[in-house]
Amino acid sequence: MFLKLLEKAELARENSYSPYSKFKVGAALLSKNGEIFTGCNIESSSYSLTCCAERVAFFKAISEGNNGFEAIAIVGGFNDTNEPCMPCGSCRQVMAEFCTPDFKIIIKKNDGFDIYTLFELLPNSFSLKNNE
Ligand SMILES: [Zn+2]
Repeated sequence: MFLKLLEKAELARENSYSPYSKFKVGAALLSKNGEIFTGCNIESSSYSLTCCAERVAFFKAISEGNNGFEAIAIVGGFNDTNEPCMPCGSCRQVMAEFCTPDFKIIIKKNDGFDIYTLFELLPNSFSLKNNE
């Protein structure tokens, strides 16, 4: 399943709109019911409006009524290279909103892939749930 997710992330990366950074990213998010939602990074000439591939995938899934996720694959790098592309802090926080600590994050590398859990990448995260 992880290989299929990586394949979908690579395909989504082809749609990356990144004329400013030239850093193309694709993501594929697996929901608990087996559906896959993809995303690519989308930049803006007003840089702060840029949205990451991971959040595009999450927002697509959530806007279509999905709210339970198993894993996300992320593929990225400058132009068409493959460099380990870790999710940024904003994306990790969005993952924490919708995923359990054992959610899997699969990162493509030139020679394969690494798998992390959300807890490894964002331990002790902010949550309103902590205040209940
Ligand atoms: Zn991000």
